Amino acid sequence: HGLAPQPMQNEHPITAEATAGRRERPVVALVVPCYNEEEMLPVSAPQLLALLDGMVAEGIASADSFILCVDDGSRDGTWELIGRLHSEDHRLKGITLAHNRGQQSAMLAGLMTVRPMADAAITIDADLQDSPQAVVEMVRLYRLGYDIVYGVRASRSSDSFYKRASARAFYKLQNALGLETIYDHSEFRLMGRRALDILEEYPERNLFIRGIMTSIGLKWTTVTYDRCARAAGETKYSFGKLLSLSVDGITSFTAKPMRLIFGLGLVLLLLDIVISAWVLISHFGGNAMSGWASLMLSIWFLGSIILIALGIIGEYVGKIFTEVKRRPRYNIAESLMD
Ligand code: UDP
Ligand code: MG
Repeated sequence: HGLAPQPMQNEHPITAEATAGRRERPVVALVVPCYNEEEMLPVSAPQLLALLDGMVAEGIASADSFILCVDDGSRDGTWELIGRLHSEDHRLKGITLAHNRGQQSAMLAGLMTVRPMADAAITIDADLQDSPQAVVEMVRLYRLGYDIVYGVRASRSSDSFYKRASARAFYKLQNALGLETIYDHSEFRLMGRRALDILEEYPERNLFIRGIMTSIGLKWTTVTYDRCARAAGETKYSFGKLLSLSVDGITSFTAKPMRLIFGLGLVLLLLDIVISAWVLISHFGGNAMSGWASLMLSIWFLGSIILIALGIIGEYVGKIFTEVKRRPRYNIAESLMD
């Protein structure tokens, strides 16, 4: 079915010790961000509950496993619907945010809510584009000792051309700027308790969870799955939301664009030498209007000096940027202190 874990560069080998202390039947929490999903939830809730039943029957998840629907300030009847589903089956739980904060914040709210109750949390979209079979595979891998399992889509055939092209451009740009991401992984992911505890240590306001996940380390692996089309309703990502997510992703991880300004200033300064020579030759050769030479010389020189100055300021702003984030300087994976 194409669900086999793929070996990747930074992947850790799993040893017998890693599985020690890991519960045979972990409490699994499915965290489902929901924004205006009243059309989709009646379809996905029974399927997700059936998925839990299946894992309990197979003996790989505890009967206490549950679903947490995070209503991200929906404007339709999503929250009332979650209330109804909850009264039918208490394994489906819910929280609602006071207003729409976006998928990243909704997921974080859900993850932090389930953190004290679950051994592992899986973020999955309400529209079931992420395959339920892959969830089972993720839990199996968690039981083997992995802390994070990334869902990686096998193909993008269900996406529009525009979405495919923009996603590819986004990954390319991120990598060029030195941000480590997993190709074709979005937000479908299992995180063990250890990963959730570390995530809690990141106090920043601008959240890009998939970027943080790859930067915290721990034992991770991937599961590939076929992403299908949304079964009901429409995408909740407008062009504006997608763009602001990309900008957030980059600007919350790297100050490299500011360094590029400095580089540009240096390049212009070099160019300035060539241009100055040409201007001076034209001037003394007598084929230049009066005033042109002095104007050209100062524009090019000042332009490059201004960019270099901006780049220097950028370096300091970049330092401030990393300092104010107050990210942990290291993450302890395990300790033998007792
Ligand atoms: N979502 C959310 N808040 C938002 C936008 C989206 O919680 O502001 C949820 C949405 O309900 C869904 C998931 O995020 O469960 C992914 O959204 P969607 O399926 O619309 O995105 P796409 O699959 O088109 O990228
Ligand atoms: Mg979707």
